[in-house]
Amino acid sequence: MDSLLLQNLEKRKQNNLYRTRVMVDSGCAEKISVNGQQVHNFCSNDYLGLADNKTIANAFKQGIETYGVGSGASHLISGHSKAHQELEEQLAEFTGRPKVLLFSSGYMANMGVIGALVGRSDLVLEDYLNHASLLDGGLLSRATFKRFKHRDTVDLQQKLTQSNASRKLVVTDGVFSMDGDLAPLKDLAAVAQQNNAWLMADDAHGFGVLGKTGAGLVEDQNLSIDEVPVLMGTLGKAFGTYGAFVAGSEALIETLVQFSRSYIYTTAPPPAVAVATMASLQLVKSEQWRRDKLNQSISRFRQGAQQIGLNIMDSNTPIQPILVGSDEKLLEINHRLIEQGFMVGAIRPPTVPEGTSRLRVTLCANHSEQQIDALLDALDQC
Ligand SMILES: *Cc1c(COP(=O)(O)O)cnc(C)c1O
Repeated sequence: MDSLLLQNLEKRKQNNLYRTRVMVDSGCAEKISVNGQQVHNFCSNDYLGLADNKTIANAFKQGIETYGVGSGASHLISGHSKAHQELEEQLAEFTGRPKVLLFSSGYMANMGVIGALVGRSDLVLEDYLNHASLLDGGLLSRATFKRFKHRDTVDLQQKLTQSNASRKLVVTDGVFSMDGDLAPLKDLAAVAQQNNAWLMADDAHGFGVLGKTGAGLVEDQNLSIDEVPVLMGTLGKAFGTYGAFVAGSEALIETLVQFSRSYIYTTAPPPAVAVATMASLQLVKSEQWRRDKLNQSISRFRQGAQQIGLNIMDSNTPIQPILVGSDEKLLEINHRLIEQGFMVGAIRPPTVPEGTSRLRVTLCANHSEQQIDALLDALDQC
């Protein structure tokens, strides 16, 4: 077995696609310690700077006092605690949807939702650049699986018209995770409605960040439950904790409780995580300054990047990719950035299409102006 595996690993190395893990020996903040070296952290999804927030950490401790650590069973046996229930109700109110269901992670939510909604005689249509978890969910559902061109409602319309599947599910990232651009949700919703299809939006990167109160893309673009009947969000990014949820009608949520395999056949997350997330929700709602500061950082970074002629992509979100193209060159630049004390994402295929390897800079509310300027200087030199 090993000799065969090693051959494949060697091939991946030769193609500059080999992944390695860095070991972080501090918590997630604007500066982290990596193998004993202090580096500026420009690669986390902790957009509001809540992952190491003291108020949330104290709520977590209190949750542990009340509930201990493990939930001990799945939600449908005895793992569904009062804390889970209360968080679901609060998230439903926040997103303006009748019901919410918590999942252990965003990956599991996406696998479980698509599989519960469509099957063999149905159609799933996904944006080309959707997150891997959505693609995997679509493939595992056994429905006919097709992709439409990135953000292209005309292509979507054509593919919907060609199909005579009984159920049709259109699936898209809200904010595209490796590009930072937004799905045209109003237009997608209109096309879906015209074709009697359902729309599912994954708001992993918009939830907490976009919208007047941080309720995400549906708040930002004022999208009703009829337009986006299936809304998914995650709690491990801007919310700074862990887990995910799906929001929608009572019938949708009850369907997921009955049929979503990644909901049913897994241990419920620790109740204390739900307690911590409720504290996080309070801060997301009340501390508007975090979104204001984040938006200032985005503008500052983009202006500076344009001035030094970096190949930044068309994004107004905290995800600010810089297109490099070659995998080899990307690794070289990334290595030099780390030497200078800056961690950014180095994103290669198959996460992104061949030839579009990029640095993925992510901005957070707790970055200082000096930190952003220092990153720009380092990027200029590298
Ligand atoms: C991160 C992410 C997920 C997965 O969420 P986890 O809670 O980390 O499993 C799903 N979809 C998108 C678009 C993401 O960026």
